[in-house]
Amino acid sequence: MRTTDPYLVITRDAAEKIKNAPISSGEIGMRHNAADNVYIVDKVEILRQTRVGIVVPSEYRVLQAGERGPVGQWMRQPSPEINQLHVNLLMRPGTCIAFEKFRTLVSGVEDPGASAGLLITHDPDLDEEWRRVGGRELAGWLITRSGVWPMHVDLEPESFGLGQLADQWPVQDLADRSTMVVGLGSIGGIATDALAAYGVGRLELVDPDRFLWHNMVRHVLGPESVGAFKVDAMKRRLAHAWPDADIRPHRLDVVLDAHVIRALAATVDVIVCCADGVAPRRVVSHLARRAGIPAILACVLDDGAIGEVLRLRPGSRFGCLLCHRAYLASIGAIDPEADQELDYGTGHTHRPMTAVPPDLHLMGEVAAKTAVATLLEAHHGDHTQILPGDQAVIGLRPGGDLGAPYDVKRAGAVVWSSIQPPRPNCPTCTTS
Ligand SMILES: [Zn+2]
Repeated sequence: MRTTDPYLVITRDAAEKIKNAPISSGEIGMRHNAADNVYIVDKVEILRQTRVGIVVPSEYRVLQAGERGPVGQWMRQPSPEINQLHVNLLMRPGTCIAFEKFRTLVSGVEDPGASAGLLITHDPDLDEEWRRVGGRELAGWLITRSGVWPMHVDLEPESFGLGQLADQWPVQDLADRSTMVVGLGSIGGIATDALAAYGVGRLELVDPDRFLWHNMVRHVLGPESVGAFKVDAMKRRLAHAWPDADIRPHRLDVVLDAHVIRALAATVDVIVCCADGVAPRRVVSHLARRAGIPAILACVLDDGAIGEVLRLRPGSRFGCLLCHRAYLASIGAIDPEADQELDYGTGHTHRPMTAVPPDLHLMGEVAAKTAVATLLEAHHGDHTQILPGDQAVIGLRPGGDLGAPYDVKRAGAVVWSSIQPPRPNCPTCTTS
């Protein structure tokens, strides 16, 4: 397609009116947005002398802009293979058919004179084979005396949203699943967006904080949400983008309200923890273990140099967060949480995050991917979703000076490793 080619857009409403009209040809009215060279059908003649307006939903701003366009025509099967000809011509960019020749195929086409006309041909009998190679039941034509050109046509789909992906992605499996997200900061906001976009059916959002101006540079929320509780603002955001998702906001602190969170944890399939600080991560590790569900912990370490996504799974093969940290200590690895721990309970605010927004986005996406892959593998036996390990260390701005397992050397590197089994006397792991 050349960028100078005009484009024709047909809403579902317009398509239905053409397809269901009892007459076999009529006029169409159009708007033309010259800046984008796009035409949209906004009137259809469905009975002789009866033209009805077409609803163009207000969110289609480009399509609502522009000027009144030319009056065109629509015809049902003016000749048996007209929409096949349309595909054939589109496959050879720059080719057209002489007006006189076209008129022998489509006898009712109006002579455009010195200007240009537009025609839609409707072929309800176009077979599957032609549809597979791009044939359309509704085809557009730009009519000039110097030639008739096939127009690219985009038809508004029957439905939007995840249902469109049902052939390629386990939409229904995930619609039946639920996730708790603890901490709706920059990483948690992104992870929540991604979980909804993957199609997780129910999201329990836990965060006690408000969204404030200083959050804005790194967050998926924008100025419309300043002053709101993060969980409520995220619910509004997701309700718009993913109306089918069940989003439940909780203005709760996972540490102070652990008794409430415990009951909530029993109702979900996985917890994703993106909260700052050691205490929330420990609480999530403990509650998830007791609930017998996996927890995914995501954070940025070493002033934004690296990111870590940790998957804690129930069962005797995998230790909890404290077991993992004890193991790291035993091998002399750095304790990346030590800095955060100093802040906890001291009344000091955390050191401002030094990671840039897209690096945090990357962490949120990996956290969501880890959660969804875990759900699909564990509950649905999806072998395409097996992860390489249970700890991912991601190079964001790595100095290359950390010891294993944090020794990623390059930006963009993702290094997975396994985690150790529980310690013999771990209070979290042994009494489950
Ligand atoms: Zn443990």
